[in-house]
Amino acid sequence: MAAFKTLDDLPADLTGKRVLVRVDFNVPFLDGAISDDTRLRAAVPTIEELSDKGAIVLLLSHFGRPKGQVRPDMSLALLVRPLSELTGRPVRFIEDCQGPEAERAITTMMAGSIGILENTRFHLGEEENDPALARGMAMLGDYYVNDAFSAAHRAHASTEGVAHLLPSFAGRAMEAELTALEKALGDPQRPLAAVVGGAKVSSKLAVLGHLVSKVDHLIIGGGMANTFLAARGVNVGKSLCEHDLVGEAEAIFAKAEAANCTIHLPYDVVIAKEFAPNPPSLRTVNVHEVEPDEMILDVGPAAVEALSDVLKNCRTLVWNGPLGAFETPPFEAATVALATFAAALTEGGSLVSVAGGGDTVAALNMAGVVPDFTFVSTAGGAFLEWMEGKTLPGVAALQQ
Ligand code: AMP
Repeated sequence: MAAFKTLDDLPADLTGKRVLVRVDFNVPFLDGAISDDTRLRAAVPTIEELSDKGAIVLLLSHFGRPKGQVRPDMSLALLVRPLSELTGRPVRFIEDCQGPEAERAITTMMAGSIGILENTRFHLGEEENDPALARGMAMLGDYYVNDAFSAAHRAHASTEGVAHLLPSFAGRAMEAELTALEKALGDPQRPLAAVVGGAKVSSKLAVLGHLVSKVDHLIIGGGMANTFLAARGVNVGKSLCEHDLVGEAEAIFAKAEAANCTIHLPYDVVIAKEFAPNPPSLRTVNVHEVEPDEMILDVGPAAVEALSDVLKNCRTLVWNGPLGAFETPPFEAATVALATFAAALTEGGSLVSVAGGGDTVAALNMAGVVPDFTFVSTAGGAFLEWMEGKTLPGVAALQQ
């Protein structure tokens, strides 16, 4: 990975310097309150460090999808109080993310103070990466810091455009994320395994296609494994299966063979006739014993044991997607068991484990192993694009 600058490369004394910090404050709101403040918390170390060094910290973020409209329900003014409570410091609201009024407001800010600029997406130019908007943002700062990995897959004015106009640095959260991802797929210790699960092959074809050329072991679980099983001639009954993608699955088998990557599919599975919690028709069978009226909802225990043996011999693991329909008991069992095993290997020092994606974080939280993994990324789209081997524009702009 090309080098990027971090906060360590900024002058130690930033007294009165204006630092624009791109954060991801796109937090979920429920009944007028933040229902999950993970993203706010993630930005706090960078904000506090810059403030402690005397900078005027100016936070840039999108919030919701206002599509160029000014929407009070999507105003970042809503986050002033929560951020102030989290940092224990006063936080000011600035009514635009560019322009003369914002400039005037900022000239009254003291060294070390923190301001949230209004939602970048109130301007259509944000998503269009309009150079004029990027210039308007850049005028407000002396330096630019990007601490929003989860927004780095988008080439927008506040994530990409502005980075070319100011000296640019990765914030602490971004730095941690890029360092972990580099360890996992950039320059990993081998053998390297990937677990890819989730509902559909179609949403992760690019991920699978990239991974087979990178990893030594590709473990496929979840609904998407059914399409691969079908490609191997297994009758998957009424399981979720994309029969039209069997050809794509065969191409991935061929690519894996050419690249010396072993693909692991479940050989026993947990099945039921109806998709409901603890259904009476629940059975664990060999994959060849699924009846036409049954569906595969989780990987079986024998396969989990075999997969654990694979992980035992690996040094690095990348994980995206659950192995089963984990939201409905008992179809979380395989995901929880394998994640617990990976967590123990990580604790024992033999495995670097990096996981990411919305559902994956929920599943690992269910297993209670998030703190034990080497790194768990809460980024959704950006994490998947990184697993596809794509260059993220927001990251590339920091590497110039
Ligand atoms: P994704 O967003 O692609 O990672 O997919 C996650 C979803 O896949 C979760 O909601 C799981 O319930 C679902 N899923 C995993 N395994 C299966 C399966 N065997 N059958 C149906 N849905 C599944």
